[in-house]
Amino acid sequence: MKGFAMLGIGKLGWIEKEAPTAGIFDAVVKPLAVAPCTSDIHTVFEGALGDRHNLILGHEAVGEIIEVGSEVKDFKAGDRVIVPAITPDWRSIDVQRGYPAHSGGMLSGWKFSNFKDGVFAEQFHVNDADMNLAHMPKNMSLEQAVMLPDMAPTGIQGAELAEIQPGDSVAVIGIGPVGLMAVAGAVIQGAGRLFAVGNRPVCADIAREFGASDIIDYKRGDIVEQIMKATNGQGVDAVIVAGGDSGSLSDAVKIAKPGGTISNINYIGKGENVPVPRIEWGCGMSHKDIRGGLVSGGRRRMEQMIDLCLYNRIRPEKLVTHVFDGFENMEKALLLMKDKPKDLIKPVVLI
Ligand code: NDP
Ligand code: ZN
Repeated sequence: MKGFAMLGIGKLGWIEKEAPTAGIFDAVVKPLAVAPCTSDIHTVFEGALGDRHNLILGHEAVGEIIEVGSEVKDFKAGDRVIVPAITPDWRSIDVQRGYPAHSGGMLSGWKFSNFKDGVFAEQFHVNDADMNLAHMPKNMSLEQAVMLPDMAPTGIQGAELAEIQPGDSVAVIGIGPVGLMAVAGAVIQGAGRLFAVGNRPVCADIAREFGASDIIDYKRGDIVEQIMKATNGQGVDAVIVAGGDSGSLSDAVKIAKPGGTISNINYIGKGENVPVPRIEWGCGMSHKDIRGGLVSGGRRRMEQMIDLCLYNRIRPEKLVTHVFDGFENMEKALLLMKDKPKDLIKPVVLI
């Protein structure tokens, strides 16, 4: 089968590999729609996960099952499914600890395009189908469905980790597709004033539509100054970091109130350390909580995302600005995530 792969750091191309087979609990799926992620860009062009050779990319897909193992109960060949970006080993001790995303070790629930071939292939393997796949509702569009493996749950997790209480002031730093879903998540959690930090108008418009009250343009001046001024020097109760670089984490610490929460969902692709500003962290005594997490995966999480869509709580299809028809457009779509043209939020490839 053919797959679109990371050949090495900075190198992309199509490769041929043997088609996967399903173990007794597993499934093999052919994609109907896939989406490239900024994380694919960090992986290939920044070597953020280390060097990988001939690894098929991609972790955002919906598809049709072509084979299931003998012990799979709830799915069969022909079913249309949403495939989470994170497919934990549900029989691991880390799951009992409450961290399926890290089942089997740090970030190990993230298998596609990390530890095994990803979804930009004619077929791909899904471990533990009953626990990781979700049935795609008949009336759901492919564009909406393919925002559920990663974009919706990552952004919403950013808001959950930020422990937003009703009426809290919130800042979301970075309003690409992930940050925009964090804006939507913050609204669901009950945010009061909601700052959205970005630059491109296409993203700012959707941020407003999703519920941001204030747009802060980081190219028009220091965001710390802008947000501290707008809040009369108080800062905000919660900050979600969904873009920028490690300096953005530092900005987040500066704009959080004492006792505030900083929730990082950004994939920090470069550098040895991340800077925590000493003074604004209260010389270590500010009670500002810095946390971060890999998106939760698995079937229940996908089913939660499906219900948020079916009952009109979120509209992730609004992120999709570019739709390509056919696998031959994979490289073009992926490179859009690298170049981030003015009119882009998120591309999708229909197959
Ligand atoms: P985008 O690149 O599309 O969006 C990044 C956003 O950050 C844009 O709004 C951009 O503004 C803004 N930005 C860039 N530089 C700065 C800066 N210096 N200060 C403030 N804002 C800035 O990324 P995505 O939304 O696709 O993804 C966001 C991050 O989430 C990525 O690092 C991705 O790898 C990660 N990720 C993490 C996951 C997890 O499980 N935790 C899962 C999926 C993704 P503009 O473009 O307008 O200039
Ligand atoms: Zn992703």
